[in-house]
Amino acid sequence: MINMHQFYVTDLQKSDTNEKQGLYQFVATFADKTKCRIFYEKRPDWKISNVTRLLHVPCPICRRDYFCNCLDRFTDEIHQEIQDSGLLPE
Ligand SMILES: [Zn+2]
Repeated sequence: MINMHQFYVTDLQKSDTNEKQGLYQFVATFADKTKCRIFYEKRPDWKISNVTRLLHVPCPICRRDYFCNCLDRFTDEIHQEIQDSGLLPE
């Protein structure tokens, strides 16, 4: 299992939306207190279009606090967790 990672999403805060376009931005918080910004499209199913770090918190994967692209590899896992957690709006 090389490409598996549990994030344990504990919180999902809506930070920006354009409902007409079906574009949503969230800030997700993980159990280890790291966070990331998630760009979602809803047409009509929720789909992650991009995941980026919040640069003042260490990366959940590599633990660095400067730019990295680690989260790009885990959009499927993150989406699955968020969907399972029921944190997405109706
Ligand atoms: Zn990283």
